[in-house]
Amino acid sequence: MVLDSQVEKLYEGFDFYNIDMHLTDKQKSLRQQVRDFVEQDVMPDINPYWEKAEFPWDIAKKMTKLPIMGGALFEHGAAGLDFLEMGIVAYELSKGDGSINTFYGVHSGLAMGTIGLLGDDEQKARWLPDMVKLEKIGAFGLTEPKVGSNAAQVKTRARKDGDGYVLNGAKRWIGNASISDVLIIWARDEETNEFGGYVIENPNETEGVTIDDIWGKVGKRSVLNGDIVLENVYVPKENKLAYVKSFKDTARVLGMGRYGVAWEAAGVAAGAFELALKYTKEREQFGKPIAGYQLIQQKLVEMATEVTLMQTLCYQMSLLIAQGQLSEGMVSMAKYNNARKARYVTQLARECLGGNGIVIDNHIARLMLDAEVIYTYEGTNEINMLLVGRELTGINAIV
Ligand SMILES: Cc1cc2nc3c(=O)[nH]c(=O)nc-3n(C[C@H](O)[C@H](O)[C@H](O)COP(=O)(O)OP(=O)(O)OC[C@H]3O[C@@H](n4cnc5c(N)ncnc54)[C@H](O)[C@@H]3O)c2cc1C
Repeated sequence: MVLDSQVEKLYEGFDFYNIDMHLTDKQKSLRQQVRDFVEQDVMPDINPYWEKAEFPWDIAKKMTKLPIMGGALFEHGAAGLDFLEMGIVAYELSKGDGSINTFYGVHSGLAMGTIGLLGDDEQKARWLPDMVKLEKIGAFGLTEPKVGSNAAQVKTRARKDGDGYVLNGAKRWIGNASISDVLIIWARDEETNEFGGYVIENPNETEGVTIDDIWGKVGKRSVLNGDIVLENVYVPKENKLAYVKSFKDTARVLGMGRYGVAWEAAGVAAGAFELALKYTKEREQFGKPIAGYQLIQQKLVEMATEVTLMQTLCYQMSLLIAQGQLSEGMVSMAKYNNARKARYVTQLARECLGGNGIVIDNHIARLMLDAEVIYTYEGTNEINMLLVGRELTGINAIV
């Protein structure tokens, strides 16, 4: 059963503690544009893509009408968002669909963000203008089949060869890989062991590159994740990112990614909660709306409380990051908390829908499974927890 309300507006913008009062008109206007995109372009069309595990090109292309590409970057037509705006975009997109948000997060945040932060002027001018328009799609290849949480220990190797480098190795889980035009590969130099970022342009047409989409995912089904094999892949020297000196540089990009993922988790949870609230007020059993029963209200209050805590944590994070005061442990705590709570909230929301929560028509089951991915990527929740532990105690318990 699909609720009548699903042909109307799905989301009201739950904001119990009035965080809205802190937003500027510009921030509110951006939020409204993303909300409209989610209501009009994502929600009506996303479920079949998710079910077929297909990438929704038509929805993705419509993102170009939003002033969001490149996040905080401001050169070459990028959006020049402030930190709160970046969070709001991730939050609102994720209320619609985790895969859409991940497509955006990988392309705009990880790939464009890396080039903006660690590329020189020539490299930025070469890639960013087309990426802003989604005429070129970006991907960020760090994780490998045998290297996940210990990302600094990548086994992919770069060998100096004449005027360029030759890459050998394998990558796994790489978002947008099979549709990418600008594929960033993180590798260590065979001789010096130095960490570096190498851009493979048009990987599908590059000799030695094999990309296979990963099938059978139970979450984020409509974003493509790839297994990549690199066999003697030549990369010209001008495609080595100019300002990568060590893994710490990559970690700066990952830190920003984690900030966005904390907002994403809040968005997924808020979306599921709002849908459950609407459903329970409309669905009647034993002669009255199920929202009128104490056990359902308990779940609604539990969800509303967790969502509110996530929102306030995210908002405070946006103030700290803008002042340069957000530590690695603070970002990790927000990701750790919000990803865990997104799992909890989406499961409670699903329970509220009974059998109807088992099908994706009502969207919550999709959000619930997307929350599983959020729990694991951008540093698993265990690793994020240990990063907080390291900051609190000064003792590293990760290795
Ligand atoms: C849908 C999806 C999209 C992704 N997109 C990208 C992408 O675009 N680019 C990219 O580079 N990567 C991407 N990733 C990879 C992601 O970042 C990794 O999955 C993640 O870092 C964990 O690595 P792993 O899967 O190899 O797990 P492992 O590192 O093998 O971890 C397995 C388990 O062991 C635990 N564990 C590991 N080490 C420790 C420790 N020291 N102490 C305690 N517990 C530990 C982990 O927390 C986890 O529970 C994506 C993953 C998914 C699922």
